[in-house]
Amino acid sequence: MTGAPPILRVALPLPLPQLFDYRAPEAAPARHEDAGRRIRVPFGSRELVGVVAALGAPDAPGTELRTALGWLDEAPMFHGELLASLEWLARYVHAPLGEVLATALPAALRRGEPLPATHAWAWRLTEAGATALSGLRKGGRPRRFADLLAAAPRDEGALDDAMEAWRAAARALDKRGLVERFAIPASQVAPAPQPGPDLNPEQQAAVDALRSAQGFTPHLLEGVTGSGKTEVYLHAIADCLARGRQALVLVPEIGLTPQMLGRFRARLGVPVHALHSGLNDTERARAWAAAWRGEARVLVGTRSAVFVPLPHAGLIVVDEEHDGSYKQQDGIRYHARDFALVRGKALDVPVVLGSATPSLESLHNARTGRYRHLSLTRRAGEALPPRVHVLDVRKRPLDAGLAPELLQAMRDAVDAGGQVLVFKNRRGYAPVLVCHDCGWSAQCRRCSTTTKGAPMTVHGGGRRLQCHHCGARRPVPQACPDCASLALQPQGTGTERLEELLVQRFRDVPVVRIDRGSTRRKDALQRRFDALGRQPGVLVGTQMLAKGHDLPNLTLVAVVGIDEGLFSADFRASEKLAQLLVQVSGRAGRSDKPGEVVLQTHHPDHPLLQTLIHGGYRAFADEELRQREAAGFPPFAHVALLRAEAKAAAAPVDFLQAARDALQAAAGARDGELLLHGPVPAPMPRRAGMHRAQLMIESVDRRRLHAVLDGAMPELYAVPAARRVRWSLDVDPVDF
Ligand code: ADP
Ligand code: ZN
Ligand code: ZN
Repeated sequence: MTGAPPILRVALPLPLPQLFDYRAPEAAPARHEDAGRRIRVPFGSRELVGVVAALGAPDAPGTELRTALGWLDEAPMFHGELLASLEWLARYVHAPLGEVLATALPAALRRGEPLPATHAWAWRLTEAGATALSGLRKGGRPRRFADLLAAAPRDEGALDDAMEAWRAAARALDKRGLVERFAIPASQVAPAPQPGPDLNPEQQAAVDALRSAQGFTPHLLEGVTGSGKTEVYLHAIADCLARGRQALVLVPEIGLTPQMLGRFRARLGVPVHALHSGLNDTERARAWAAAWRGEARVLVGTRSAVFVPLPHAGLIVVDEEHDGSYKQQDGIRYHARDFALVRGKALDVPVVLGSATPSLESLHNARTGRYRHLSLTRRAGEALPPRVHVLDVRKRPLDAGLAPELLQAMRDAVDAGGQVLVFKNRRGYAPVLVCHDCGWSAQCRRCSTTTKGAPMTVHGGGRRLQCHHCGARRPVPQACPDCASLALQPQGTGTERLEELLVQRFRDVPVVRIDRGSTRRKDALQRRFDALGRQPGVLVGTQMLAKGHDLPNLTLVAVVGIDEGLFSADFRASEKLAQLLVQVSGRAGRSDKPGEVVLQTHHPDHPLLQTLIHGGYRAFADEELRQREAAGFPPFAHVALLRAEAKAAAAPVDFLQAARDALQAAAGARDGELLLHGPVPAPMPRRAGMHRAQLMIESVDRRRLHAVLDGAMPELYAVPAARRVRWSLDVDPVDF
């Protein structure tokens, strides 16, 4: 048997926990350097793209292994560190390695396409284009695009910054032979770096601390909005580049604006590669490939960018580290911030977590000395902190949910030439439709809360009903289905109704609504902000307005409709609400104009509001951490949530009961260290027609929790009840 080549142990993108053994293709026997390479294999009657996770001893004579069909690349797609980190992640989330590896790859590479070329692309006018230019309609998009190129050929990154939706114009003109695309070396695309402001002493101290970090050192950079955190990142990245290393910057979904990318590109003097969900498959694969080849020096991306290869890593930054969009909520439920720390450790590089409102997890880690704590306590430049008032609206007359004093303050702000932001965390026209005569209310037929059908939200100015849980839509009925009365009334206020009222009140200035309903299209958000510019006006919207685009002329922020958030059952609700309030407030008065914040509430004495106003986020966090510790909640305990859903009402609980037995058996005699809560119905027990239940698994000892999960996992896949449900395990869940 000596000399027989090793077999391949292949991770396949299947919901099965094991690796699959194959013989290497005959023409290309396996070598030990092959771990991390993509390979095409037969599986049943299908062909799958897998990744070699390990090499195994040659198979014993007589076993019938199938032979792999062929290698997809010469070199491993996952270098040593990345493969090892992803193996760690698969163990941590208790998911099949093949599914984790598939999640980490851009879709095109997952399908087996080759690693794309990574030179940059630029556009120029052709000779025909130069002649035809003056014939193009003035002001039209093709003309604007052609005018840009007439000034100078431009690379695609520069075009992204200069003009929105330029690709459509480029395609149209390309068809007519008026413009052409050409390849240029990626290193050529960057403009010369522009200098930034001089750092203030706090910023300088933060930059010095980062500069002195040797190897893996986690930092929490806590700084109010506008305190200059981004400037600190830029300096740390410049240092990292000077050492010839790569920097990875993670930003929340909504934080990756063209404004922000433009700032990075202008300041760093190297190409900045973006990686986010707005890119198509080819663009994503290209950014990934540029990282893999070490050509991408700076990568700025949203959640899944945490999976890029970093062969020359030097620094990882996680901006707005508290942001909920870092947690993947389906499939492989990873947390990009937490995984960024795992990679930082494996790569032995400093990691910076930045936020004005750090997560309680990160604050806890900073306070117990696991992270270095850096603080920026005042706004950079000229801007002053906003003044915050609580407006008590008990017994006050309200107009679409707004008190007269608030409307007056808005009027004053607009008359003074400023912009006003009205924040309301409910989209649609009204949250419920009721019959004034019999009390009937419109409910979704496929979703229920614990007591009744889930209310449907009124949309389309009062014409349409929509379920925010499953997306179901139907027209508003002509008459009450129960009593035939015509007295159907929308109750409560959503952003659409607020917009309707404000348009009537503020006829002299633009009123712009920003929420998921109004900004579904890719560039819509940016376009709406650009259209408003710096002129006086009113913005109405949901938490999409809490961050992202910089609004220098915003002088008043009005927060309405927060009261139900003050009394939520979810133990994370207070943290989320406090973060949202501080983030929204931080948007007021970013430059020379002072800012003002009005919190309208029926509960002006609520401890959360009082603590926030008098002590700020720090005081809130201190108090909240004390309560979490007393109650034994995260970060003082570790939790995993097992969820199950099925069409049949009893199936989820049957499965979870079997799972509970398996977990108890795995815990054995030491089950006192493990708490099992449930099975219980999910907070929304029926969604889109599926019955849902959950089982919470908790321990103060993280290793113990994982040991028990490891012990029980094979049983969860094997129990007969598992075949009648869709189930998933969520380690460190953020939503319950
Ligand atoms: P953050 O990321 O904390 O919100 P930024 O880095 O975006 O803060 O800075 C907020 C604003 O202040 C930006 O317009 C930035 O250019 C400016 N700024 C930052 N640092 C300084 C400084 N040291 N001096 C003057 N202006 C600064
Ligand atoms: Zn009725
Ligand atoms: Zn529904």
